Amino acid sequence: MKVTPDSDQRLLILVNEQVTRLCQERDGIRLMEVCGTHTMAISASGIRRAVDPRLKLLSGPGCPVCVTTDAEIDTARQLAERQGLALVTFGDMIRVPGSLGSLAEAKAEGADIRVVYSPQDGLKMAMAEPEKEFVFLGVGFETTAPTVAATVLAAAERRVENFSVLTMFKLIPPALEFIASAKKMKIDGFILPGHVSTIIGSQPYEFLVERFGLPCCITGFEPADILEGILLLLEQLEHGPGLAIQYRRSVRPEGNRVAQQLINDIFEVTDAEWRGIGRIRNSGLKLKPDWQKFDARVRFGLRSARSSRPASGCRCGEVLLGLMIPSECRLFGRVCTPETPKGPCMVSSEGACAAYYRYER
Ligand code: SF4
Repeated sequence: MKVTPDSDQRLLILVNEQVTRLCQERDGIRLMEVCGTHTMAISASGIRRAVDPRLKLLSGPGCPVCVTTDAEIDTARQLAERQGLALVTFGDMIRVPGSLGSLAEAKAEGADIRVVYSPQDGLKMAMAEPEKEFVFLGVGFETTAPTVAATVLAAAERRVENFSVLTMFKLIPPALEFIASAKKMKIDGFILPGHVSTIIGSQPYEFLVERFGLPCCITGFEPADILEGILLLLEQLEHGPGLAIQYRRSVRPEGNRVAQQLINDIFEVTDAEWRGIGRIRNSGLKLKPDWQKFDARVRFGLRSARSSRPASGCRCGEVLLGLMIPSECRLFGRVCTPETPKGPCMVSSEGACAAYYRYER
């Protein structure tokens, strides 16, 4: 993925002309994306280096593994160490260090931790081994929540008694509200996520325009999509904020109503802890009371641990807020690499530190 076709080059020229025009009256422009796929695509395509340096493209809290806190990893690890229990998770999560170590270390010490590609795989395992408890780690944004909700429904229909979910879901609009409210971040506009928006539509972002006067564009993932999205944001900076949908081939204003209904049937909104941010009201999901038998926190009497400052010196929290770029972390590329990650932003295949390490050193 590179900014190579002529059409991309034309868009790039238009972007840089618009930046030059806008920067006659301002010092620079700071646009933030909040999607791990955008993080990787912007780095891999070379867009960040190709645009006028007065245009800063910042990565926000859009990688689900990256925003998971140490305390959440610790809770998962403590659960995984129980006898007769298997913890089931997506691959990236297993290497994220918590304050007690990673799940991979717990696995090496004997914990039964299994990597799957979907929550349904975890349910199948539970059905195959009914004498054992299976807990699926429910990590992700509005994109993964519907699949997990469907799995809980399937578990109920099949009367599976040994499957539950440890919910750590996060919701994107409350995080955007936090960033828009925090003056120190000085964001001029948002490149909004394509996948999340396919589920929730554009309506949940309208407050960003109405209350904060921020330009917004829901954007796709090809270099041409991203450049066009940036161009739409720059035009809004010139003519007034709005909420554009560049990624029209996937996103409708109302979103995916079936997926939204699945989420609403099974989950309810709750407060959540975000790495680098702390607690944000109404920014997470937990199982509704009717579905508590599938809630690992209730089933195993877990209490939510409070986040602490990472002992490793990792600065993922600041990276996730666009307050620094990965290469400004003193551990970047020396002690912290994809092989020896000190924080989730280097672990995740969608993390900003991994993207900079791979494409922008
Ligand atoms: S380079 Fe490593 S230690 Fe530094 S912020 Fe990124 S993940 Fe954390």
